[in-house]
Amino acid sequence: MIKLLAYLLGKGTVTAKSLFPDLEEGVRGLPKLTSAACDGKECNACVGLCPTDAIEIKGQGSTSKVSLDLGACIACGLCVAHCPTGTIANNPSTKTARLSSEDLVLSNVSSLSDAGDPQSGLIKADGIFKRSIHLRVVSTGCSACDLEIGACGNPIFDMERMGVHVVASPRFADALLVTGPVPKAMHDPLRRCYEAMAEPRLVIAVGTCAISGGGHKDGYTEANGANAVVPVDVFIPGCPPHPWSIIYGVHLAMTARQAKKKLAQAAAPKADEDPAAQKVASSAASEP
Ligand code: SF4
Ligand code: SF4
Repeated sequence: MIKLLAYLLGKGTVTAKSLFPDLEEGVRGLPKLTSAACDGKECNACVGLCPTDAIEIKGQGSTSKVSLDLGACIACGLCVAHCPTGTIANNPSTKTARLSSEDLVLSNVSSLSDAGDPQSGLIKADGIFKRSIHLRVVSTGCSACDLEIGACGNPIFDMERMGVHVVASPRFADALLVTGPVPKAMHDPLRRCYEAMAEPRLVIAVGTCAISGGGHKDGYTEANGANAVVPVDVFIPGCPPHPWSIIYGVHLAMTARQAKKKLAQAAAPKADEDPAAQKVASSAASEP
């Protein structure tokens, strides 16, 4: 017992101090596109190797346009390893979540990765701790993403210190975290879970399967991601995403929630326009 206590005390604090750091050297992340000219159809190595058809090449020679959809990428690393021109490279960033699936489609003509994080202004270091968020996790058939969500709560990442809590009921949840490709058998349970949440509610798709269906896309199980069933607000690519990427995506959702709340308030009917409020007002007026 004393040995165990001494061991634990000797470990000190393991909780990471810096938020959303880049992956360590040599660790495989998602691919990114650089501005290095692609060899186009003369090469086509990446297109032939990609198991999920995430890459498209248009044109020939050095003016070829490469598109890479991170929403379909399972981060196998084959394109990075075999690209002879360095047009496709490893992206060590963990800030990979986006508010729209269109923003996950990279291009070597205007590379989002090279341009930096387009949402960096949305997450402010002094703003993220001011709010908390409660998450309900629905797994529709993935264990890897679920394990990484579990890791977000361990002493190293400790997302609860940032006000991010996992709850057991959709009634208490602000956001729905969906993992897995959402096959037909899970369409109804996922929809029911979403409908049980109070407004304003958000949906966060965690992992490539939840974004697009990944390797299950257009199969007989009709597993084409969460957006086919409920409206997704934040997309976190990866197979599975790193815990920092998941926590980054949740913080993006916190930003989206504030924006959505403002929109809902602006759209809410005023008392003089709301029929129910008018009825209450007129019955109150007719009372002696
Ligand atoms: S890393 Fe992604 S884009 Fe590249 S080959 Fe693998 S699945 Fe395709
Ligand atoms: S592997 Fe590289 S050079 Fe070859 S087609 Fe793909 S992006 Fe272009």
